[in-house]
Amino acid sequence: MSENLFAAAYKNQPYWWEAAPQPSLPPVAPPASCDVAIVGSGYTGLSAAIELARGGRHVVVLDAEDAGWGCSSRNGGQVSTSIKPGYDELSERHGKDVAFAIRREGFNALQWIGDFITRENIDCNWERVGRFHAAHNSAAFEKLARDATHQTKGLEVEVQVVPKSEQRREIGSDRYFGGVVYPRQASLHPAKYHLGLLARAQGAGASIVTRCPVLSIAKEGDGFRLATPRGSLQARDVVVATNGYTGGLTPWLRRRVIPIGSYIIATELLDPALANKLSPKNRVFSDTRKLVFYYRLSEDRRRMVFGGRVALKETDPKVSAPRLHAHMTSIFPELAATKITHSWMGFVAYTFDTLPHLGRMGDGIHYCAGYCGSGVSLASYFGSRIGLQVLAKPEGRTGLDGIGFPTRPFYSGDPWFLGPAIVYYKVRDKLNI
Ligand SMILES: Cc1cc2nc3c(=O)[nH]c(=O)nc-3n(C[C@H](O)[C@H](O)[C@H](O)COP(=O)(O)OP(=O)(O)OC[C@H]3O[C@@H](n4cnc5c(N)ncnc54)[C@H](O)[C@@H]3O)c2cc1C
Repeated sequence: MSENLFAAAYKNQPYWWEAAPQPSLPPVAPPASCDVAIVGSGYTGLSAAIELARGGRHVVVLDAEDAGWGCSSRNGGQVSTSIKPGYDELSERHGKDVAFAIRREGFNALQWIGDFITRENIDCNWERVGRFHAAHNSAAFEKLARDATHQTKGLEVEVQVVPKSEQRREIGSDRYFGGVVYPRQASLHPAKYHLGLLARAQGAGASIVTRCPVLSIAKEGDGFRLATPRGSLQARDVVVATNGYTGGLTPWLRRRVIPIGSYIIATELLDPALANKLSPKNRVFSDTRKLVFYYRLSEDRRRMVFGGRVALKETDPKVSAPRLHAHMTSIFPELAATKITHSWMGFVAYTFDTLPHLGRMGDGIHYCAGYCGSGVSLASYFGSRIGLQVLAKPEGRTGLDGIGFPTRPFYSGDPWFLGPAIVYYKVRDKLNI
């Protein structure tokens, strides 16, 4: 590991926390009772809290750590439509109508978050910068171009095909074989966005209890009793919003989500001319490799923020940082001597059908999780939907309702199969398949 890749002021924590430090809320005890208890204070939990508190409910949000400590203040800030399976695959699994409705939810989520941030005037560097999705080989480019011209009626997205000869218009790299631009996709500052949600939830009257893990949830009367180290809380309804940090509190949910570490670095300040050369249109970037890398310039267009999966087993961000740096310089050789100022990670939640899920567990507890690594828009939108479902409002209905939430035999929450799967994808990417 090359120590001189690290800047003198290197931090093993999110770059985003520089402009939006973790909120340190007073260590209060939860009240004795409330209408709705929400476990998890990320985008999902707070979006639900905003709907519920504005809907007149007494809401308490609890988090084991500081507010937003999970993925919601750590992510890459890339905002997309985010439903992973395509229409054909979903049609085979669920029929055409459900497939259509599920795919539409991706568009709804992107539209919803943009409207919400604008309406609420949240200061979070929201910008419709567009995504350049790059092809890692010529077959991938052909497929992207074909998909762009053969879109399902009613599910069309605006897309521009960019051949390799014109690629430098989009990205300062010759690593790729062309790609496509999705102009509607956006970027934001994830931790500032989280603080904006937190302020709105508090403003609507929700209580936020941090550094207070929920230890158990038991059915009691027509509601639930939540135990915490600072006392217990009686709630008529519970929403579990723990996503990639779902643990033994909810074994049913834990058997359905696959926690996967995603790793990310930020570089020292770049020369503005170089930053502009690498990202002339300030797009967000991703590519067609199986082990996806996602990257962008920081909100001030001065640093490269580069993320992906670079370890078979979960590891320390100081170990993943040089590996990410190597991948970054394989795309942008000009950054070979650029130092890393921050490296961090967080746990996203995959699901066995690569779809998000929301609804109620058998005991009546509400849940919303499983954004498969792309949760900025999905967690916000589905979080608000689950809030509306608790309020029994028709606007809470989604295209995902009632589709079933699969698990696998003998899976209890420890993804032992992750290492072999990563090796398999790595080999495919190396072989350029
Ligand atoms: C490095 C990284 C990069 C990413 N990049 C992108 C991106 O560019 N675009 C995108 O769309 N998505 C991205 N994501 C994913 C996105 O950040 C998540 O999908 C989203 O933030 C999930 O929000 P959430 O509120 O559901 O969960 P989280 O924000 O993870 O919050 C869950 C919370 O639950 C709490 N919790 C767990 N158990 C308990 C308990 N027993 N009691 C109390 N609290 C508990 C945790 O402390 C945590 O704060 C990225 C994620 C990571 C880690």
